[in-house]
Amino acid sequence: MLPVGAPEGGGGEDGDAALRAGCRGSWGQAPVDAIDYVITHELCHMAEPHHGAAFFELFDKVMPDWERRKQRLERAMA
Ligand SMILES: [Zn+2]
Repeated sequence: MLPVGAPEGGGGEDGDAALRAGCRGSWGQAPVDAIDYVITHELCHMAEPHHGAAFFELFDKVMPDWERRKQRLERAMA
């Protein structure tokens, strides 16, 4: 079961620490499935600009294992 709700950071403009970390570089260390996570995340923003319930509903639908991928990305960026 994946929790669907607000992202860490209290639902601000963009709670994606991992995405911001990605912008700083070291993509070479990111596993391919983590890169897929970022791309899919951004594609979901085309339909849902904010991190509301609808965004995570859509994200869960197109990428059910996104949380696992996000964790891999965060580990790769650490
Ligand atoms: Zn986002």
